[in-house]
Amino acid sequence: MDKRTEIDELGEFGLIEQITKNFSNKNSSTKIGVGDDAAVVDAGKDYLLLSTDMLVEGVHFDLSYMPIHHLGYKSISINVSDIAAMNGVPEQVVVSIGLSNRFSVEAVEKLYEGIKFACKDFNVDLVGGDTTSSPSGLIISVSITGRVEKDRVALRSKAENGDIVCATGDLGGAYIGLQVLEREKQVFLANPDMQPNLNNYPYVTGRQLKPKARMDIIHELSDLKVKPNSMIDISDGLASELYHLSNQSDVGFFIYEDKLPIHKQTFDTSVEFNIDPITSVMNGGEDYELLFTINQDDHEKLKNHPDIHFIGYVTEKEKGINLVTKNQNVVPIKAQGWDHFKVKD
Ligand code: ADP
Ligand code: MG
Repeated sequence: MDKRTEIDELGEFGLIEQITKNFSNKNSSTKIGVGDDAAVVDAGKDYLLLSTDMLVEGVHFDLSYMPIHHLGYKSISINVSDIAAMNGVPEQVVVSIGLSNRFSVEAVEKLYEGIKFACKDFNVDLVGGDTTSSPSGLIISVSITGRVEKDRVALRSKAENGDIVCATGDLGGAYIGLQVLEREKQVFLANPDMQPNLNNYPYVTGRQLKPKARMDIIHELSDLKVKPNSMIDISDGLASELYHLSNQSDVGFFIYEDKLPIHKQTFDTSVEFNIDPITSVMNGGEDYELLFTINQDDHEKLKNHPDIHFIGYVTEKEKGINLVTKNQNVVPIKAQGWDHFKVKD
């Protein structure tokens, strides 16, 4: 019998590695292929950026608590985030949907209201897509193009020893928001007369339901004439993204626990759920903030920015990826991140 390997054994990143390793690029215009937040294509004066992200009902979203127009917004925003992660500006999207007969025309229109809102917010043009039926559930697949000046592209592979590590916004909120939404859903399923009570958790549920790609930061970095040496968006959790930067740049990290940005509501709600707030920050997914490294010389230009936090520094690969705790203990950071093949057993 032929050998059968379960996908679980490889995990998401192992599988991607396995299926792409035997491809080589044939076109000289292909500058960066698989492995960064977006592919980089030589388009003459600038680089063209190209990326895609798919959302699947039951894996990435649950319509019992995700308003469908928010889902439309999120499907664009998470793609814009991958363009932002290259230090680029988004331009076009194509949107493909698979629909079962559970969905009415009105529901699809609401989905597209969210998509339209996001296109306006991020100044991108919807230029095509595909529409098909699906045996069950909703699938949204978005592909996006962007553009970046050649000398401003930020790759996962260019972090340098001595760089300062920066994270935008605050982390862990989207994950904790998901815990709140799941809990309220269980209450609702147990007793449909109960209405979900989300009023106490507006910030964290908002982080889960309507993430906003940090294009504001990209424009500000450009205005301040700061070019990150390396960058990635935080979609799978800080720890997982540090691992990607470490592997691809051949560097290690020291990250300081007391510098990690966490919103008070994320902290308090983590405690309520018996989750260590640092675990939410390190391993919670879907914040869609940016993680980047800068030359020490650029610190001065960013030091007064209210939403950019200096969380650590880049070191030699041999030193590993470490958290310096509040008591000055140094502990290795483990990557758990989101593994979509393990979310639902
Ligand atoms: P991100 O979280 O930034 O969207 P992913 O973790 O999904 O990135 O993907 C990592 C890299 O692997 C990207 O460069 C992506 O284009 C590539 N990739 C993911 N899935 C596939 C696939 N099925 N075939 C080819 N490349 C893939
Ligand atoms: Mg990404």
